[in-house]
Amino acid sequence: MSLTIGIDVGGTKVAAGVVNSRGRIIEKLKRPTPSASPERTARVIAEAVIDLLGRHQAEAVGIGAAGYVDAVGSDILFAPNLAWRNEPLKEQVEDHVGLPVLVENDANAAAWAETMLGAARGHEHVMLVAVGTGIGAGIVINGRLYRGRWGIAGEPGHYRVVPDGRLCGCGNRGCWEQYASGSALVAEAREFARRSPGPAVRLLQLGGGSAEGINGPEVTQAAHEGDAAALRCFEIVGTWLGQGLAALAAILDPGCFVIGGGVSEAGDLLIRPAQAAFSGALTGGTYRPHAEIKLAQLGAEAGVIGAADLARRALAGGKLASGKLAARVQSTAPLSGPEPRDGPSPSRRTSTTKPVTKAAMAASAAQPGTVQPTSVATSR
Ligand SMILES: [Zn+2]
Repeated sequence: MSLTIGIDVGGTKVAAGVVNSRGRIIEKLKRPTPSASPERTARVIAEAVIDLLGRHQAEAVGIGAAGYVDAVGSDILFAPNLAWRNEPLKEQVEDHVGLPVLVENDANAAAWAETMLGAARGHEHVMLVAVGTGIGAGIVINGRLYRGRWGIAGEPGHYRVVPDGRLCGCGNRGCWEQYASGSALVAEAREFARRSPGPAVRLLQLGGGSAEGINGPEVTQAAHEGDAAALRCFEIVGTWLGQGLAALAAILDPGCFVIGGGVSEAGDLLIRPAQAAFSGALTGGTYRPHAEIKLAQLGAEAGVIGAADLARRALAGGKLASGKLAARVQSTAPLSGPEPRDGPSPSRRTSTTKPVTKAAMAASAAQPGTVQPTSVATSR
């Protein structure tokens, strides 16, 4: 059975796994991410691959990375939590490992894995929403990953839900992830503890006596114990989540939403209020089918499995050339879908896509499982 290697690069760790054609991980390992240095991060990825190649014969490498990846699966345009800025990651890793490499956004890789092998099996129209420190997402339409024109589709965390609302790390106000993420859950709990220390006694106890000591795991624990204040926090965040999903359904009409990310480990605490709010907010709700809202099944392994499977498919489809030739081949052959009508896909050298970089800089989207540079709060 042929093997590929999947890599999931987050702000704190690099996870690598050898994956077979059924999506099963044969062996996996983890290394810390030297997030301040793109070169060292590429080297850590390459070393993990070489380590695994010592015991397994793999044919290609797929990398899911917490950042904006270009349309041809080659470069990282921008990463909010890592030092990547227009970084030729495919080339850097291929130079070390001698295998063809595909680079993909980590939430896209997870969305693909959940569609093929996880919670959304059997669906062709899927949106994965990863609720972590921020909100990440991946979109599958007609059974194919949807990347958008520039490769950065599926960043709804910065969709504005409240005009002039809470300030977001991206510089805008009122972004969805300020209301429906792990950071929002923690913010609600801390604010409540400061305002009403009496009813928040259990939260404060778990937080070591201060509102600032309350983090995601404490809120989840208190909610599982039945603490009313913690349950209220999940109710608020879950409601924002469900309302946002209804807005996304108005655009995409998916058959299934998969909720992943660290906060989804709270299970029904998050899903139930989200489902209720979704049903209430969906336009024409009584007269139309409703998308399923399901918990992710593959957990932290979704990124590794999805990246490996995408690399396998790209290789089988002749769309994953190795080495420097690849950039030229891929610049005229997108990984999936027909040639865009508005011109050929950008290659790394012919276009640094200024509008994209500008937009990317403006929207420092937090990806699931990583810590925003300006915030230490994480619910993962
Ligand atoms: Zn934002």
